[in-house]
Amino acid sequence: MSSPTRYQNYINAAFVDTDEHLEVRNPANGDLLSLVPESRASDVEAAIDAAHSAKKAWAALPAIERAGYLRKIAARIRQDVSGLARMISAEQGKVTGLAEVEVNFTADYLDYMAEWARRIEGEVIESDRPNETIMMLRKPLGVIAGILPWNFPFFLIARKMAPALVTGNTIVIKPSEETPNNCFAFARIVHEIGLPKGVFNVVSGAGRGAGEALTGSSRVDMISFTGSVATGSRIMAQAAPNLTKLNLELGGKAPAIVLDDADLDLAVNAIRASRIINTGQVCNCAERVYVHRSIAGDFIDHMASAMAATTFGDPLAEPDVEMGPLINQGGLDKVEQMVKTAMEEGAELITGGRVAERGKGFHYQPTVLSGCRADMDIMRREIFGPVLPIQVIDDLDEAIALANDSEYGLTSSIYTRSLASAMRACREIDYGETYINRENFEAMQGFHAGVRKSGIGGADGKHGLYEYTHTQVVYLEA
Ligand code: NAD
Repeated sequence: MSSPTRYQNYINAAFVDTDEHLEVRNPANGDLLSLVPESRASDVEAAIDAAHSAKKAWAALPAIERAGYLRKIAARIRQDVSGLARMISAEQGKVTGLAEVEVNFTADYLDYMAEWARRIEGEVIESDRPNETIMMLRKPLGVIAGILPWNFPFFLIARKMAPALVTGNTIVIKPSEETPNNCFAFARIVHEIGLPKGVFNVVSGAGRGAGEALTGSSRVDMISFTGSVATGSRIMAQAAPNLTKLNLELGGKAPAIVLDDADLDLAVNAIRASRIINTGQVCNCAERVYVHRSIAGDFIDHMASAMAATTFGDPLAEPDVEMGPLINQGGLDKVEQMVKTAMEEGAELITGGRVAERGKGFHYQPTVLSGCRADMDIMRREIFGPVLPIQVIDDLDEAIALANDSEYGLTSSIYTRSLASAMRACREIDYGETYINRENFEAMQGFHAGVRKSGIGGADGKHGLYEYTHTQVVYLEA
């Protein structure tokens, strides 16, 4: 095993060391990968200072020039897709094929947001007065704090920095303490393409340390956070004294409804993919299934065989596996405990249900539980693991009522050949996204935004871009 890399914060276009460090380990085998800065409040302040100093000149550049930097970053990312993917796999545990998808998607996302440079629009409104023009100008907010989770660590950098930068903001990113290495690789690329200093800064460290220093700062104009509901709620409290604007992308408990007229193979394949992609650690993937009684037996049999056949292990040592480990011991313990509790509450274990012995990694068997009920913890709380709980329903009304009875409201899906049923579900399901006869995976031109506790505001597309702006109304009498 090679010696761990030592990373430094990226502040004002310089790589800067800190006194304290955090260890980053590979969740598939426990190897020590790196030491990264455990930033203190003063390190975070330095990054905010840099972002402030840079914002005036950056906002004054034509948007097309700002976009040019995003395109350069995208091009540079495409030169090293497999190297970056291996780095993501090592610290996060996803299979390298998925990590490559993430890297390519990140480059595409940067290019997509760059395309908005010539489409950022204000408005001119008719006035009630003679000789007056009312103009609505769209302006950057200023300094953005981007706080990231670990599950798509590379893409989420772009999801925050690309709309922020193209609209003229500067940004300080704090990656998850689980997956900071790829963020420093991103910073290295930003540095190499010559982004003006202070526009993009990275400080790593704990949520309760560096994270709180960012979210509690009166000099941050918006906190763009992706992570759990519990942390989102804490961040809201931390932001309250300064009334800092929030953009919160939080957890989910996505319902998948499978009606009696569904294409069974399609439903099984799509829902299985949803459970094993990133080892079930995706905010928008199906976390609970409502299947019609008349096809429940077939659906459960097919799903159990497909899940049981899923190969898993250490993605870098065994490149053909379909699924890697969970992120850490806490994630593994949570999944194990939720399955045990579900069985004590009366769920039937169809396949899986155990921690898998695979060296020191946090591996859990792909698991299917049937006989689940709405009052069970496993049908209400985010699992974030390769576990599929199934409840039988008698009609669409029941399925919609169960789907809506949740504190989450991010994504949902329905499998049916009936256009009328699909359209009724769209009208009556209260979710930010609904997928019909396909896997849950959003497009960059859509709008990824949850209702209820799944978030405030959203990301992607025109609406996501404009979250990083405010309007100034100008009354011009001339
Ligand atoms: P988390 O909430 O534990 O941590 C996310 C980030 O917040 C980390 O960088 C952490 O250091 C930081 N943090 C923690 N406490 C903080 C504090 N008090 N102040 C400031 N920052 C703080 O989430 P996680 O475990 O990294 O990610 C998994 C969660 O993210 C899941 O719930 C998942 O559903 C959600 N998620 C949502 C989306 C979405 O688009 N809605 C996308 C990906 C992940």
